[in-house]
This record gives sequence, C-alpha cells and structure tokens, in this order.
Amino acid sequence: MNLQATTTQPNITNILGFNRQAMELWFKERGYKPFHGRNVLKWIHKHGVLNFDAMTDIGQRLRAELSLSAIATPPAICLERTAKDGTRKWLLELNCGNRIETVYIPDDNRSTLCISSQVGCALNCQFCATAQQGFNRNLKPEEIIGQVWLAVRQIGTQRFTDQLTNVVLMGMGEPLANFDNVVKILELLQDDLAYGLSKYRITISTAGLVPALRRLRTVCDVNLAVSLHAPNDMLRDQLVPINRKYPIAELLSACKYFIEGDKRRKVTFEYVMLDGVNDNDSHARQLIRILQGIPAKLNLIPFNPFPGTVYRRSTDTRVEQFRQQLLRGGIMAMTRKTRGDDIEAACGQLVGQVADRTRRAIINN
Ligand code: SAH
Repeated sequence: MNLQATTTQPNITNILGFNRQAMELWFKERGYKPFHGRNVLKWIHKHGVLNFDAMTDIGQRLRAELSLSAIATPPAICLERTAKDGTRKWLLELNCGNRIETVYIPDDNRSTLCISSQVGCALNCQFCATAQQGFNRNLKPEEIIGQVWLAVRQIGTQRFTDQLTNVVLMGMGEPLANFDNVVKILELLQDDLAYGLSKYRITISTAGLVPALRRLRTVCDVNLAVSLHAPNDMLRDQLVPINRKYPIAELLSACKYFIEGDKRRKVTFEYVMLDGVNDNDSHARQLIRILQGIPAKLNLIPFNPFPGTVYRRSTDTRVEQFRQQLLRGGIMAMTRKTRGDDIEAACGQLVGQVADRTRRAIINN
C-alpha cells in the first residue's frame, strides 16, 4: 500500500478526492463508460484498495492507463497517539512541511471521527489553539477524505459503520471557508459506493460564515453546529472576530433558514466555558433570550487550555449551574465530555504544523 504524501508530479491526478460525478466524468473524458468510474470509487473507498492493479474486475487496458495517469493517495501518517480514554489522534503529513490532525473518539453507542478542513485557520478565535497557528491553505478534497480513508483502515473496521458512526468537520480550520472542497467530500461521505453515511450522521461546525451557510443549505443537507461562545455582539466580537462581519442576529437568522422545513433538525450551538468571561448568570439569561424559538441544542464545552492562553476553564460547579439555568429557561443544554486531552486531542487543541503562518493577514484584509 502506497501511503506517500500527495504527489506533485504533473499529469498525474490524485483521484482519491473525486466524488461520483467527478469520477464518472474523468473516465468519460478518456473514452470509458461512466460505470468504470463508479467501480473505481467503490474499490477505493468501500474496499480500501488504492492500487489499480488489484482492482480485479477492471480491464487490463484501463488498469494500465490508470497506473500511468492517476494515483489514489491519502496523506502520510507521521504519528499516532492513543489517549487513556481510547481517543486516537493522527498527525498527517501533507506537503511543504504542512501537517494536520485527525481525531477518533470512540464512545459507547457512537464513534466519531473529527476531521480537519484547512491547514491552520484564518479566523483567529481567541480561545482556540489552531488559531494561534495562523493559516496556510485550504485542504484539497483528497486530503479531507483521505483522513476518513486512513482512519477506517487504522481502526481496522471492515464495515465502515461498525466502528465509525459519525463524522464531524470540527478539526483544524473553518470548513465553510473551504466550501467547494468540503461539499465534494460531504457527497462522498453520503455516497453508498463510498461511506454511505446518513446525512444525520455528518456534522459541519462553523464559526459563522453567514453567506456560505446560506449557500450550503441550497447544495447539501447535513447537521449544523455553530460556535456561538457569547450571548451578545460586544463579547462575541472579541472572542470570535468573524462576528464583526456577521453579527449574532444575522447568524441566528441563517441558522433558522438552514433547518427550515425539516422537523427532525436542530442546530447545535457550541459554547466554550471561559472562567469569568462568558459564564455568569446574566450570560445565561441573554442566551435563553436569543435562542428563543430556534430548535436548538446547546453544547457547553469546558475550555481546553493550551500553552500561552490567557483563558481558564470555568469550574465544574459553574458549568453545571449555568446548564441548570439554561434548562430552566427551556434550552436543551448538555455539557460535552472532555475527551483525549492527555494527548492534546480535545476541542480546540489541534495544531498540526503550519509551514507558513503569514497568510492569515492576506485573507482577512
Ligand atoms: N471553525 C469551526 C470548526 C473548528 S473548532 C468552528 O469554529 O466551529 C471546533 C469546536 O471547538 C468549536 O466549537 C470551537 O469553538 C471549539 N473550541 C476551540 N477552541 C477550544 C478550546 N480551547 N476549548 C474548547 N473548545 C474549543
């Protein structure tokens, strides 16, 4: 099995990230029937076969042509760590010194893979370790789906759904800032010839890129998680700077639009609990007010510290009091269990390695 980092050779296409449509088109352009494309898709993602020669029901001529013009190659694994609670984290090598992280979180009745969508992040949320890394580039489709391909093989499951029930785009980066590539892999995750996941088992988490969120609603339908973290614009402007561009009212209206028409849907709001910053009774009251009328769940995330941060985690008692106040106010609030923090795999602790961190300035200006 060839697990080299994505090649940069000219005229050789990495087809690992091709969705069904792209795969069919690629074969058609070379004079083959689209069903060959579907076969190859199935070999790669369902059977985990990357070597075209091993795709036995594909004719020899086509296999030879594939070997000359294509590869199907995920990122390379540099390091794997396993936490005491069974959480596993992989550090993956891309190119030019860039590295990203992927986390697998097994639990009693669900097992979740948390994947990255960018090298670093440009949004600069104050409490997030990824933000401190700066931003280098968007991940390509093969680098995003490559994380899923690798995890399935590393976990050693034959049937994808046995040990991997959910995929969340909550790793490094802002998925809606890498819109086209993310949409391609959302399709692959749901395709029966690839991972066959239900749309209810895929979650995209965003800091609130409102226009992209509205656009997403028109092209695909998955679970939505929104990183809220503050109940008013003054505080959210500081903690999540993208709020200065897309304030809370606009964000919440886009959230309502996103789930409109599907009664099973709720928006999950994420709220990192920062001691003395966003965790008092008045914050809870404001939250109850702004979330009124939105089908929502609120996930309270105890802050996960990282070197150099000025923030502290709210005490367990404060988190619980805050939660009880929200419940009394009619908000379905849960506290997210901290997982994998002994290997820096918990929410907001993923850093990978960002080769050139300076690109954040270019994006934001
Ligand atoms: N850019 C996307 C996805 C990445 S962050 C987003 O903002 O949603 C995934 C989740 O982890 C977000 O809810 C984020 O706010 C939260 N998070 C970031 N840093 C954290 C930290 N240090 N402790 C706890 N949660 C954190």
